[in-house]
Amino acid sequence: MTWLLPRLLQALAAALFGFLLGAAVRGTTGFEGLGLGVGVVTGVGLLLLLDAVRGHRLLSWLRGNQQDNAPRDTGLWGELGYRVERAMRDRDRAVARGRVELEQFLSAIEASPNGVLMLDAQEHILWCNRVAADHFALDPKRDLQQRITNLVRAPAFVAYLQAGRFAEPLVLGNGRGPGTLSIIVREYGEGQRLVLTLDITERLRSEAMRRDFVANVSHEIRTPLTVLSGFIETLHTLPLTAVERDRVLVLMNQQTQRMQTLVADLLTLAQLEGSPRPAPDRWVALDGLLLRIAADAEALSAGRHPLRLKPETGVELAGVESELLSAIANLVTNAVRYTPDGGEIEVAWRLLEDGSGELTVIDTGRGIAREHIPRLTERFYRVDGSRSRETGGTGLGLSIVKHVMQRHGGELMIESEVGKGSRFRLVFPAARVRLASDSVLGDEAAFSGAALSDH
Ligand code: ADP
Repeated sequence: MTWLLPRLLQALAAALFGFLLGAAVRGTTGFEGLGLGVGVVTGVGLLLLLDAVRGHRLLSWLRGNQQDNAPRDTGLWGELGYRVERAMRDRDRAVARGRVELEQFLSAIEASPNGVLMLDAQEHILWCNRVAADHFALDPKRDLQQRITNLVRAPAFVAYLQAGRFAEPLVLGNGRGPGTLSIIVREYGEGQRLVLTLDITERLRSEAMRRDFVANVSHEIRTPLTVLSGFIETLHTLPLTAVERDRVLVLMNQQTQRMQTLVADLLTLAQLEGSPRPAPDRWVALDGLLLRIAADAEALSAGRHPLRLKPETGVELAGVESELLSAIANLVTNAVRYTPDGGEIEVAWRLLEDGSGELTVIDTGRGIAREHIPRLTERFYRVDGSRSRETGGTGLGLSIVKHVMQRHGGELMIESEVGKGSRFRLVFPAARVRLASDSVLGDEAAFSGAALSDH
């Protein structure tokens, strides 16, 4: 009520002024009534004029953009102006706060890995994030307020939106390419819809790979099992001579070994997938590995090929010994198995300029056609299935090699020409290659350092 006192004072001042003017009029004219009339009219008129001026000032401010303060009058008009201004400033602040919160909320949705799109009741696009725009091949600005079914014309999507049954997500080929989208719609507000999109291409691919893998494993195991049960049946029902029995037993043994190799390779793959990355400080002498591999390869070749498998590298590799052995041995045994008698097989080593190292297994065998090369490291992929099985192959060897190299930060590279032969290169990163002589120096330095620090 701070405005009341100035208001009373103003009224009092106007009344006093009116009274004095009335008294002066009465004194000069002698008409008492005229003096009273002039006094009242003047007092009230003065008050009205004052109100009109202040009211006009406040109205002018309200009509404007209210950037500056409201007129700072005393009394009722001043109080009114101040209250109106405060209410407006509070509202502006609340609107600004709301806008910031909305922007933060939208940028959080924008950062979502999933697509988010909002539709009004007539299916016009109200907002969409970049992922949704990419999934539906939309322009996130230009296509706002457009009807989505005019832009995304896939019949399955249009029918899904129109049917209004959103309990199950819709699986849709991505308009932009070979990918697949999962689309979920939720209704909110008054007929508005929230459309969520998720790119499930990778998930479908890995599910398909898993299914293929299980089917392949089952097939690979079932074949020798069928053969074995056939032989058992034969042994059981037919009166065989001792020679025939021995022959059947040899064949049964071959099938069992085939299954054993398959299970061993599967276990190796499972172990590779499940175990941590090889430590970078466990050093394995490459020459020692090559000696062991050469002995096995010589036995497998049985003198059918000229072999040069023991280069003196003087190098150590950082990693898991059994994995490195398995990777190199797979390449060397493949070379023996896929090289006709008389073909040459060689293992070469070289240090590259950047400190990395390259082990190459070279053969002059049958070679591999260009179109097969990118697929060789897929599980169970074989160029010639019967040749692979004949020689005890599982179709898993090169995928084991690739896996081992990836885990060691290296790479498997394949070059081959049909009829001329193949080169399988294993490239190890510099951090995992050192000269064995350096290791002795390094170990001595470490030892003398330790000895010094002991004293
Ligand atoms: P497998 O057990 O069948 O040998 P791998 O994964 O080791 O399986 O090899 C995949 C396929 O690559 C083989 O089936 C074979 O067709 C081909 N291959 C591998 N190494 C050689 C090579 N040195 N020369 C020719 N073909 C090869």
